[in-house]
Amino acid sequence: MEATRSPMIHQPRTLGELSLLFQRIEHPLLWAGGTYLMSRSDFYPFPSKAQIVDLGRIEELKRISRTDRHIDIGAMVTTSSLLSAGKLVLPSILKSALGSIISHITRRQITIGGSVCEPESRMAFSTALAVLDAQAEIRKWDEGRFTAAWIPVNRLYDKRGALLLGKTPFVLTKIRLGLEWGDFQRFVLIDNPIRTPDTAILVAFQATRNQTALTKVRFSASFPKRAFHLSPELENQLSLLNLPIHPDRVNTISYEMAHDLMNRHESITEFQAERTRRVFESFLHELNIQTLS
Ligand SMILES: Cc1cc2nc3c(=O)[nH]c(=O)nc-3n(C[C@H](O)[C@H](O)[C@H](O)COP(=O)(O)OP(=O)(O)OC[C@H]3O[C@@H](n4cnc5c(N)ncnc54)[C@H](O)[C@@H]3O)c2cc1C
Repeated sequence: MEATRSPMIHQPRTLGELSLLFQRIEHPLLWAGGTYLMSRSDFYPFPSKAQIVDLGRIEELKRISRTDRHIDIGAMVTTSSLLSAGKLVLPSILKSALGSIISHITRRQITIGGSVCEPESRMAFSTALAVLDAQAEIRKWDEGRFTAAWIPVNRLYDKRGALLLGKTPFVLTKIRLGLEWGDFQRFVLIDNPIRTPDTAILVAFQATRNQTALTKVRFSASFPKRAFHLSPELENQLSLLNLPIHPDRVNTISYEMAHDLMNRHESITEFQAERTRRVFESFLHELNIQTLS
């Protein structure tokens, strides 16, 4: 059996120092808030070769900045600091997603980078960022140097919600959000995604109402440890609709959505699909009510 002892911990202060560590360590374990890492069943004992890189001292990763075209959120910004610093500038859908994390202790620990890079399961941040067309700056360590690329958050995962970035070591440095958001934004979480992943659902939706037409519709749904659902076909179908949508059509579209969900993701339960259908249907009814009032 492999000997166990405390892992070696590195604490770089800049991205330059981080790149030196990537040079020296073959598979560094990046540590952000630690909530996912500490909750894993294999957290203790560490293998003796484990080398942890704590990102907590890199100030560059803790910044939030805004230009007239976008907001950049550093990977080490925590849920609670983003909620307090970004109250006036963040889209409501992201504030709802941040607010859905109930425990104050985890809110203070969970970082945006850790949520987006959690390897197995999509939760509040990724679900909301997917409909905001957010981009992630990923620096991959390739042939002895970092190469940076902007990747849309909704392309980072497979249909189960697992991170697709492969085996090459990488660091997510920031998330970029454009400033054009739909005037109808909703985020819904039902049940606790950690304690009851078998029944929990997370749904995000945004759209723009252009007089009586619905445009720029975005929709995502996550089922912890089971599925991450996007449907460009549904978004295109909805983006052509006139408001109000006839109640029969609302009903048909919502059942088609649930059918497509079950077809694409065998792992989710009928109960989760029906829950998602009802939430989705309520968004369309709400849009109708707002149009008529
Ligand atoms: C008790 C508990 C309650 C929770 N409640 C909620 C909830 O209500 N809602 C919700 O959405 N989520 C919840 N979570 C899940 C939480 O969002 C994830 O655990 C998330 O990954 C935590 O981020 P972190 O900063 O703690 O990441 P860490 O645990 O430090 O890291 C997560 C993973 O990402 C990698 N990583 C971290 N930062 C980077 C980076 N910058 N670049 C590359 N890789 C990186 C790490 O190596 C690791 O693999 C909860 C978790 C726990 C344990």
